[in-house]
Amino acid sequence: MTKLKLLWRRRKNFIVAFMAATGSFLLGVTWPINFLRANQPLQPIQAQVLAVSQPQEQQPMSTINKFSKAIANRVEFSQQSLAQLQAIRFQSAVPGQFQGTTIRHGKLNSQRKAIALTFDDGPWPKTTTQILDILKENNIKATFFWVGKYLKNSPEIGQQVVAAGHAIGNHTWNHEYLQYNEYGAAREIDGTSSLIEELTGVQTSMFRPPGGILNNGLATYAQKKNYAVVMWSADSFDWRTLTESLIDNVMRQANSGGIVLMHDGGGNRARTVKALPDIIARLRNEGYIFVTVPELLHMQEQDLQQQETAQQ
Ligand SMILES: [Zn+2]
Repeated sequence: MTKLKLLWRRRKNFIVAFMAATGSFLLGVTWPINFLRANQPLQPIQAQVLAVSQPQEQQPMSTINKFSKAIANRVEFSQQSLAQLQAIRFQSAVPGQFQGTTIRHGKLNSQRKAIALTFDDGPWPKTTTQILDILKENNIKATFFWVGKYLKNSPEIGQQVVAAGHAIGNHTWNHEYLQYNEYGAAREIDGTSSLIEELTGVQTSMFRPPGGILNNGLATYAQKKNYAVVMWSADSFDWRTLTESLIDNVMRQANSGGIVLMHDGGGNRARTVKALPDIIARLRNEGYIFVTVPELLHMQEQDLQQQETAQQ
């Protein structure tokens, strides 16, 4: 091979590798966004990138190998991100039949004893993280209803909650007990959901009205927008009672399919943090498994389907 030819081949190899690396990098950056926005099919693009990134046999140059490795890493990274994004979206989605309805309680068949712990008014410095730690120690996934303005103040805490696999619902932007027209309700609810998605990738289909008020325009708007309006069946009254009576409140009202209301933010939640390990231990002792609200509704859907099959 002449010197000139060799030089040309090296340059050609470099150009191919460079183009592949650039293309792959751009895809790596844009895939997650594309996935969120348009849910585009991914296989063909992945195949293309992989095909381009395969080193050709007669090119044992270290530069090429280095590029190939970088490309392979990037592809792996993108696939990981996609899997994570898919999981994140799923963890806060309720089945279609519950969208636009109001839920106070899951309806399960008698063999299954499940309960959903929910925490409102976060993300909040310190107490949300303390509650995350307790949930992690006990291997429990819960549901958090966020206030938009608090999420704006503590985005990293919000991201920790999502990364830990918990489900997220919308609890308005300002958490006020007012009457809302459609425009006002849209600002409270859409603004919060947009921030949740922007910061965490979560597209939530759950809404909980502040104070449980169902007739001030917020719940009506949420239902119109196909949110499941998630209320509760067991109120801990953790914002006004001592730790002991808080535990009693939950235990007295607990039953299978139940949704327990507690708070991780919006004020001093030291009592909730103190009570939570006991609540978990006692419920577990009574045979409950802990699920998120979307999981509870998926269980209910499954039970209904089984019933229907049995009747046919
Ligand atoms: Zn609240």
